[in-house]
Amino acid sequence: MSNGILNKYGSLLPLTEKTPRLSLCEGDTPLIPLKNISNDLEIKAYAKFDGLNPTGSFKDRGMVMAVSKALEEGAKAVICASTGNTSASAAAYSAHAGIPCFVLLPAGNVALGKLAQALIYGARVIAIKGNFDRVLELARQASGDMGIAIVNSVNPYRLWGQRSASWEICDELGDSPDWLVIPVGNAGNISAYYDGFDQYLGMGKCSSIPRLIGVQAEGAAPMVKGCMISDPETVATAIRIGCPVSHLKASNAVKQTEGRFLSVSDEEILQAQIYLAGRDGIFAEPASCTTIASLVKLKKLHSLPVGIKVVCVLTGNGLKDPDTALLKAPSPIEINAEWESLREVLQQ
Ligand SMILES: *Cc1c(COP(=O)(O)O)cnc(C)c1O
Repeated sequence: MSNGILNKYGSLLPLTEKTPRLSLCEGDTPLIPLKNISNDLEIKAYAKFDGLNPTGSFKDRGMVMAVSKALEEGAKAVICASTGNTSASAAAYSAHAGIPCFVLLPAGNVALGKLAQALIYGARVIAIKGNFDRVLELARQASGDMGIAIVNSVNPYRLWGQRSASWEICDELGDSPDWLVIPVGNAGNISAYYDGFDQYLGMGKCSSIPRLIGVQAEGAAPMVKGCMISDPETVATAIRIGCPVSHLKASNAVKQTEGRFLSVSDEEILQAQIYLAGRDGIFAEPASCTTIASLVKLKKLHSLPVGIKVVCVLTGNGLKDPDTALLKAPSPIEINAEWESLREVLQQ
């Protein structure tokens, strides 16, 4: 059984003797061979299914680190501005650590469904009359003035913890893959993978850094377009970001590995979600399915080399957002309670 990433990879992380080794047994997620999709696309594809982390997304890898360091540094509470996976993870690790968690979100923009996790883990959810930028500003101010640790993407320890996924992939495959395909929102995770592979390369634990393919949604593709987007829009809410915090790091990572950024449409994302689930049995959230959509797109463009080893990072669990999944999924068939009716359907 996994002990969590601080216990498994502590020697590779900036921990001290005083850092508490928090763990909800995050990390150690499966690298699942995508047997059927591999056949379809003539590659060797794997899914790093990080939707199987404790709160259902890769955010737990960074959050365990951020909350542990916050405790070490004497913080009495944590705060974040988010309505998504970050707040779910912050709330869970704060509960585990026994300190309060404050989640700030813009009022009137309250998607309560997405906040169910934060609420159930006991976070204090505060709606603020202002836009997201203002809310983040207030969260930063709270962290400066009151000894509350901010665990948004600006927290450097998050990216440290997120490196662990690249190490797990190399440990399991015995080397790095040819390509790593990953959704890009604030661009922290792709940067963390780059640093993680680079660290392993320096230790002789892999022979190269894979080509990094960063995928965005068409309506929120600042890295592809090379400029910031003021009104990002996409069904993949986890990557609905117009000004990525780590855009410089991510640009460098892609350039160094001769990778690329590309975008896929909402329609392609939703089709890929159904394709992944129906073809290889994995239900991932829309943001994660940009990876599969991009492979399908590259194959159509004859830009997917035959036989390469590709790892798709499936960042979050599909169960987090069933409403979106049902937009394209077929509806249940309703029949009368009679054997003849059932038999007819079963024969179709
Ligand atoms: C946060 C998140 C992303 C984007 O990661 P970044 O580090 O912001 O680029 C992608 N998918 C899911 C499910 C997420 O929660």
